[in-house]
Amino acid sequence: MEKLIVSKFGGTSMGDAAAMRRSAEICKKQNSRMVVVSATSGTTNKLIELSKTAEQGDWNGCEKLIYDLRERHFTIGKELEIPEYTRTKIADLLAETETLARGIHLMRECSPRAFDRMQSFGERLSSLLFTEALTQAWPTRTVKNLDVRTVLATDAIYGKATPLTEKTAENAQRLLSNLRTENTCYVTQGFIGMDPQGHTTTLGRGGSDYSASLLGEAVSADVVEIWTDVDGIATTDPRLHKGARAIRDITFTEAAEMAVFGAKILHPTTLTPAMRRDIPVFVGSSFEPEKAGTWIRREVKDAPIFRAVALKKEQALVTLSTPKMLNTHGFLSRVFSVFEHHRVSVDAITTSEISIAMTVDRPMLTHEALFKDLRELGEVTIEEGFSLVSLIGNSMNHKPGLAVKIFGAIEDINVRMICLGASKHNFCVLVQEAQGPEVVSRLHQALIEC
Ligand code: ADP
Ligand code: ASP
Ligand code: MG
Repeated sequence: MEKLIVSKFGGTSMGDAAAMRRSAEICKKQNSRMVVVSATSGTTNKLIELSKTAEQGDWNGCEKLIYDLRERHFTIGKELEIPEYTRTKIADLLAETETLARGIHLMRECSPRAFDRMQSFGERLSSLLFTEALTQAWPTRTVKNLDVRTVLATDAIYGKATPLTEKTAENAQRLLSNLRTENTCYVTQGFIGMDPQGHTTTLGRGGSDYSASLLGEAVSADVVEIWTDVDGIATTDPRLHKGARAIRDITFTEAAEMAVFGAKILHPTTLTPAMRRDIPVFVGSSFEPEKAGTWIRREVKDAPIFRAVALKKEQALVTLSTPKMLNTHGFLSRVFSVFEHHRVSVDAITTSEISIAMTVDRPMLTHEALFKDLRELGEVTIEEGFSLVSLIGNSMNHKPGLAVKIFGAIEDINVRMICLGASKHNFCVLVQEAQGPEVVSRLHQALIEC
């Protein structure tokens, strides 16, 4: 039986008509059954800016942004020679974007629900354009645009909705049960979903990767492909360090650690659905599809101690101290239930007899309700301006002499916190933000290029 392939294309792969054509050729070559697309590069940022500009009451600024969005999408449409009815659909979506911006402007308020709806226009516009690009590239297939909100069900936490996997599988079963056999390729939107009341939600920035994996799970895909602007996953972000090398095969666990600890190539939760169903994930370049790319699987042949280095910027260190922690039990559980209640994740933690230090993403510092609850448990101190640098690999907790090697490479750098031991796949250090890239380069040189 033919493989059922779900392919996802990121913003740069949707960036202009030429990129869309290249991506369409890949879908045809791969025989993709479902294609998940991001907004054209930069569009989500523009929609976010539009919401903020409208909320601030600057209508001239809004008009300029709406003009840019129109120009961008109509230019691609023109170059792709899209038919009149698609042009009308695009015009309608842009008109709706403007109406929503007017509403926000009038109220001087952008609710989380309105904000998600605003961000959804990017993927809805790009998917209409890409449906046409693919129709032209693949005349023997029926190409249909699918509103992903009819399939991808989520809760109503706007901005970072949690997918409802059972409901999503049910929807897929109802709407896409013939996906393997019918002569159709569905083009759909990444990043967005629908809550139980029928409102549009988003999965968080970069969420289209996650959408592809969730949809792959829902339709029982054989492979999920992530097509982007680099040739697969590298040993570190190639933009940060020239010595980065392509990784050909990597385990789910290692790649998931990389994603959670800042490797932007994958949204942090991308691999969770694929892992649940054991669906291999391929990451490749839509600009150079002939290159080898990276395969992510449950098991791979080699298990190096150091596979990669990841950088997570904009970290804050929250320290909670209280003598109540002395010889008591249940304290940590109370601390973490506060984080769970406010849906804020902690990346690295260390504890001492009377204090616990945790890193959180800096934007979380504005979460007043979280800090109010934490202050009820003890004295809270906040330090900002850090980056978390993580080494990802295997058997790290069983290797003698490891710390000497790592600290030898960064002996003159002030390390504010370290985390080793919790995972055999991860060792991380918290350093001043300005030194983050230097620490990445040094660790990469000393431990991966050696
Ligand atoms: P897309 O729009 O296709 O989703 P992203 O910009 O979100 O693309 O992700 C691709 C980028 O991720 C690359 O251009 C690269 O700079 C960055 N990146 C971060 N870490 C890595 C890594 N370890 N390997 C490859 N790319 C990485
Ligand atoms: N368009 C969204 C973003 O820019 C989702 C994505 O590209 O994955 O965050
Ligand atoms: Mg991305």
